[in-house]
Amino acid sequence: MKINYTTRNKNINVELQSESVKDAFKQLAEFQEIFDEKCCGACKNIDLQFVVRTVENNDYYELKCKACFAKLAYGQHKVGGSLFPKRKNPDGSYDNINQGWHKWQAKTNTTQNISEKTQEINTIKANIPA
Ligand SMILES: [Zn+2]
Repeated sequence: MKINYTTRNKNINVELQSESVKDAFKQLAEFQEIFDEKCCGACKNIDLQFVVRTVENNDYYELKCKACFAKLAYGQHKVGGSLFPKRKNPDGSYDNINQGWHKWQAKTNTTQNISEKTQEINTIKANIPA
């Protein structure tokens, strides 16, 4: 059985070859979970980019929004090597607000870290005997 499937945002068209309806179901389920992301979860833009970053021999799979630069990270199953979108918050609950899409906020963190470090240094200086 040959199946032609187009993603909801019409960006990707795939042709799947399956032996049975169960096989077709599995292939469509996997394809939809990974590739059928309709839009950015943060700003709803449909212009998305697939990105693979390699850091210290590890590959990181991400979908990036070209409008607001939010990213959806994909986890990798330990067995089988398949991917899944990470839609949970750091506390393990489901991200109902952005569906897993996050913006990198390095600037805020860096500023906070610098002010914390400055405070730490001032505390140390104050404790040094004259
Ligand atoms: Zn966006």
